[in-house]
Amino acid sequence: MLNPILTRQDYLSRDSNGLAKSTFTCPDCGREHVIPIGEMRTARGLVNETPVVIERILGHAPRMVQVVFDRAIEDLIQEQVISRLEAARLPLAFLPLGERGLLLDSEVNLAENAAAQVHPGVEILIGAGSGVICDLTKWIATRKNLPFIILGTAPSMNAYTSITATITEQDVKISRLLNPPDAVLLDVDILAQAPMPMIHAGMGDLAARAICNADWKLANLLHGAYFCPLPYAMTAENERAYLGSAAGIARRDPPAIQVLSEAVLKSGLSMTVLNGETSPSSGAEHVLSHFWDLLTHTRGLPKNLHGAQVGIGTVIMLAFYHYMRRLDVLAIDPEEVVRRRPSLDALIAENTARYGQAGPLFNEVVRAKYLSEDGLRERIRWVQANWERLWRELDPYIPPFETIRAPLQQAGVPLTLSAIQRSPADALEALVKGPQYRSRYTILDLAWELGLMPQAGEEVLRLAGVLG
Ligand SMILES: [Zn+2]
Ligand SMILES: [Zn+2]
Repeated sequence: MLNPILTRQDYLSRDSNGLAKSTFTCPDCGREHVIPIGEMRTARGLVNETPVVIERILGHAPRMVQVVFDRAIEDLIQEQVISRLEAARLPLAFLPLGERGLLLDSEVNLAENAAAQVHPGVEILIGAGSGVICDLTKWIATRKNLPFIILGTAPSMNAYTSITATITEQDVKISRLLNPPDAVLLDVDILAQAPMPMIHAGMGDLAARAICNADWKLANLLHGAYFCPLPYAMTAENERAYLGSAAGIARRDPPAIQVLSEAVLKSGLSMTVLNGETSPSSGAEHVLSHFWDLLTHTRGLPKNLHGAQVGIGTVIMLAFYHYMRRLDVLAIDPEEVVRRRPSLDALIAENTARYGQAGPLFNEVVRAKYLSEDGLRERIRWVQANWERLWRELDPYIPPFETIRAPLQQAGVPLTLSAIQRSPADALEALVKGPQYRSRYTILDLAWELGLMPQAGEEVLRLAGVLG
């Protein structure tokens, strides 16, 4: 069933669809990188090819197809998707979720109820929508063991081709490994009409690549975590292309939207090849975003699109790396850092007081990350002794600041804290406390271990230009 790809050069030269149903024995990490998704395409008018794609998947004309969508955008789905499928005489049933005027969440009870409503005669599901519908359709199809197609309506995030879904279970977001889609179709004519904030969010989510692989490499160097350079390499050309198309994306030019859509497909694959592990697309910038999400629950701050937060988080973290690169690390006195850091008990008391119900989540992470006094001395001395070698290894994953920030700004991606309704204090808190909320090791953890926070955070927010 799987198509073996033999050389790295061949692997890196293919577009998303060229990697469909492929397997690759990686010369870099020795693992097998598998892409189990059947078909991944982006083009104009693609929705009209849905019947052909369904026949290819089932091997015959379908007896019944059920369309999963969000009632909040029902008119849009009716006009852009359902009317076309009806015109093609597909036998359709519908599975509308949520309510008009309400933001849908990929919540486990909702997904279970939806799965129970799948029509008994259905042979294949179509999830028509963006992030949440994509996650819910993956869940429902896996539950019912049905083949499914994702028909994306906005280039707003990179999970269409990921084999995991983010599902909320009792207020906590968890990532679940689910059945891979049989096809992912991104119709450029539909995506080009998506709300501009969703297009910007897609660019923001993709921007993470520009810095999160440095975090992954850092964890590899300091903790011996698994690392593979292939996911970074496989998305290099897409990044160059979509950043180069920034002006066209802002104008909704179809060729530019197609470039962005292909980058969205490939970005999801960079996680799929690691069996759903998100490190190639998620580092400290996502830590910041997850922390800002938490503040919507604990302090009632306004919600933002995931990608909008990740975009500004990327600019902050890119500035953070450049700040760290220039640090005089030998000026740090390990004894002083050990003496000055808050005790584990003090951190636990602080998290419990500040974050209420989420306090225990913080404290679990803090307990795991808090080094003993000797461990901390050893960490600092090791980093001081290996500083230049560390940066030689990290530098290939850290682009110049303006090569990322300028195109994002050109496309109109919001790059100030006020644009995402967060204060400088919220940003500083995310830089200090985000790493105590997420277990992933990033440059923020290293800065904390070196005794640089919160001063470094304040300086970086200024350097990143996000305070305006
Ligand atoms: Zn590899
Ligand atoms: Zn993301």
